[in-house]
Amino acid sequence: MALVLCPECGTSISSSAKMCPSCGYPINEKKRSMYDDLNEYDHNAKNTWEDSDFNTPGLVAFIVALVSLIFFPVFLSIFVSVGAFIVALMGIMNYQRKGFAIAAIVLASIDFVFSLFGIIILASF
Ligand SMILES: [Zn+2]
Repeated sequence: MALVLCPECGTSISSSAKMCPSCGYPINEKKRSMYDDLNEYDHNAKNTWEDSDFNTPGLVAFIVALVSLIFFPVFLSIFVSVGAFIVALMGIMNYQRKGFAIAAIVLASIDFVFSLFGIIILASF
């Protein structure tokens, strides 16, 4: 009977033990893979759920950045673009669907740069 270290908590345990007596980590290879499969399943289920969840912050940020870029004057646009950028960033971090959020990041960045140049040009007169 050999002693092995639990990969989870580091306690010395018998290699014939089915699980760690300290933390319950499954040592037996078959059980460990089942354990991982369960984790995998949970992860996938979560991803599927998030995937079906529409990226509302991303879409809102996209529309705001687009309207700001086309219609808003530079002084207003520079603040709105920063706001849209932050909202889009939240959309990227919290949702699996990132299309609108990424488009919003691009638009907000363009809007910000344009507004910055607009302000510099206006200020130089
Ligand atoms: Zn353990």
